[in-house]
Amino acid sequence: MDYDVIIIGGGPAGLTAGIYTSRAGLNTLLIESYSVACQAVTTDQIENYPGFPDGVNGFELIEKFKKQAEKFGTEFIINEVKGIKENRPFWLIETDDKTYSGRAVIIASGARPKRLGVPGEDKFRGKGVSYCATCDGALFKNKEVVVAGGGDTALEEAIFLTRFAKKVTVIHRRNALRGTKILQERAFNNKKIEFVWDAIISEITGPAKVASVKVKNVKTGVETEVLCDGVFIFVGYAPNTGFLKDALPLDESGYIITDDNCLTLKPGVFACGDCRKKLLRQVVTACGDGATAAFACQHFLGKG
Ligand code: NAP
Repeated sequence: MDYDVIIIGGGPAGLTAGIYTSRAGLNTLLIESYSVACQAVTTDQIENYPGFPDGVNGFELIEKFKKQAEKFGTEFIINEVKGIKENRPFWLIETDDKTYSGRAVIIASGARPKRLGVPGEDKFRGKGVSYCATCDGALFKNKEVVVAGGGDTALEEAIFLTRFAKKVTVIHRRNALRGTKILQERAFNNKKIEFVWDAIISEITGPAKVASVKVKNVKTGVETEVLCDGVFIFVGYAPNTGFLKDALPLDESGYIITDDNCLTLKPGVFACGDCRKKLLRQVVTACGDGATAAFACQHFLGKG
């Protein structure tokens, strides 16, 4: 069966695109990954999405988006996209076990947490090393954890972790945080949070699960050991665009290059949300992107 539109990714951008294309009468298939959860789903409280003055749980918000897309007729499948290929007038979307065909494609594959790339990180993943406080925070009740990073994610998640852990040590490679003022103030005022400045984690150690991290001062080169039960890594994100290989032009960091209307350099292929090269990556901008990509797609297919 040929679809009008195939959307790759089930986060806020892909789901918003699905709501718009289905509502516009386009036969829409949305392919969700089984290995990558969208970042919003693993966010405990989203405080800056309009309409929710008390914040909203990410999982609940995304479930509502999904219901809305389903209501208008978006078809959902769970599979891993391996590649996209042009076969005019269609685009072929290759998954693990099947190839789907669509007249247009909207890529909303999002981004994933970056790794630190230090010894012990892979070995202790799931044994104390985590990239998701909402998923794993509760495992560290009355324990001591460290957080790597100094951006909004690191601060927000460090604050969240204080609900469980008795001590949270934020290790940041500079002596000034990147995160926004409001989160900085909340973190500085939280008695459970301590900061180690100008330092990086050089190794994660422990016999069977995490027991400590080696911390290197980047100015003096002096290495110390911090005992901990968990290591939460929040050092930015990388786009999930590996499956595109050479199908589309990407920037030097792997983000998809589009125009203001979310059109890539290939006709009929649109990109929206965190996988796209742009200034601000938030739920609200992902939704805006999804709507724009869907609208541009409607025009491309002659249904605008
Ligand atoms: P980010 O803003 O890119 O910050 C990454 C942090 O990790 C920076 O402090 C960076 O240090 C540090 N870092 C990067 N590579 C490192 C390495 N190899 N070793 C040690 N430290 C490293 O990423 P983010 O915090 O995930 O935020 C991503 C985007 O989402 C941002 O636009 C952010 O504003 C947004 N966000 C917003 C909210 C909110 O509005 N509530 C919440 C979460 C995220 P440097 O500072 O030295 O570069």
